[in-house]
Amino acid sequence: MIDQVWQISGDMAEDTVIHLDETVSFLADREGIEPPVISAFEQEGSPLWRVDLFFAEKPDSGFLERIVKALALENWPHDAGYIEKRDWVAESQRQQPPIRAGRFFVHGAHDADKIPGGTDPIQIDAGQAFGTGRHETTWACLTVLDALSETLRPDCILDLGTGSGLLAIAAHRLWPKAHILASDIDATSIDVACENFILNRAKTRLSRERSGSIDAIVADGLEDTIFGQEGPFDLIVANILAGPLIKLSGDIERHLRTGGTLILSGLMTFQTDDVLDAYKKTSLQPVDRLVKGEWLALTLQKPAK
Ligand code: SAH
Repeated sequence: MIDQVWQISGDMAEDTVIHLDETVSFLADREGIEPPVISAFEQEGSPLWRVDLFFAEKPDSGFLERIVKALALENWPHDAGYIEKRDWVAESQRQQPPIRAGRFFVHGAHDADKIPGGTDPIQIDAGQAFGTGRHETTWACLTVLDALSETLRPDCILDLGTGSGLLAIAAHRLWPKAHILASDIDATSIDVACENFILNRAKTRLSRERSGSIDAIVADGLEDTIFGQEGPFDLIVANILAGPLIKLSGDIERHLRTGGTLILSGLMTFQTDDVLDAYKKTSLQPVDRLVKGEWLALTLQKPAK
């Protein structure tokens, strides 16, 4: 844990926040600087996001100036403030407010004592894997999963691109007897997901009993024989990005059981037609969509023969 850190903070419009990570990483990479940890969150009653950049070393004011300029930020300081002996990971986690999606209340450890009655709490601490529930796509998937639990009874579920494991945990809560496979191309995400399964008392597989357990695997798309062994799946949720969703359309169809349901997310509204065009080439039929801001989740079905 780093016990000293340099910080620069300010407000930012949502459409600038979208480019923040890319711009800062690009500039840092070009100048050989270790990129800062970025924390960004919506502020109640304001269209502007609050953004903090945390640097392990004092950043050069020229570098800060170039960030401020590249993103056309107004009223941002060009000098970083020094925070002494502050646990900045805990600090950035404290700043992550909990979210509600369907029956779920997704929160960090710091909000574990604030769980509202009648909700199903899932604890995810901000860390190295994507998926604290704060992103529109994750929120949309949680909401769709919750709604589908009224009618679906899947035995076998795939969470493709599991990140923090949040959607797999939500699926486990909704269908405690189902077998769930959680996969990600990124090994760190799978490590984090496994920690989160334990933290949230989801049963990882201990015996040959598949029912009610979650398995996790590092895999690129469906490029592993395990998907053939564990599938076909009654329900697949894939919150990745439009590009991989298009590329994986044939593989996803193949691993979805006849009559099965697919939730696609990670695409922005302007990418909907491109994604649906790719899935038109398969047997899958779009049945629903949930839009949240500029993002959406699509629900598709594989017709029963
Ligand atoms: N399911 C989580 C995380 C979504 S972020 C949530 O809903 O919040 C997307 C995740 O997909 C990332 O963790 C990324 O590593 C993973 N990913 C990207 N491309 C992938 C691929 N080709 N195969 C498997 N996982 C992939």
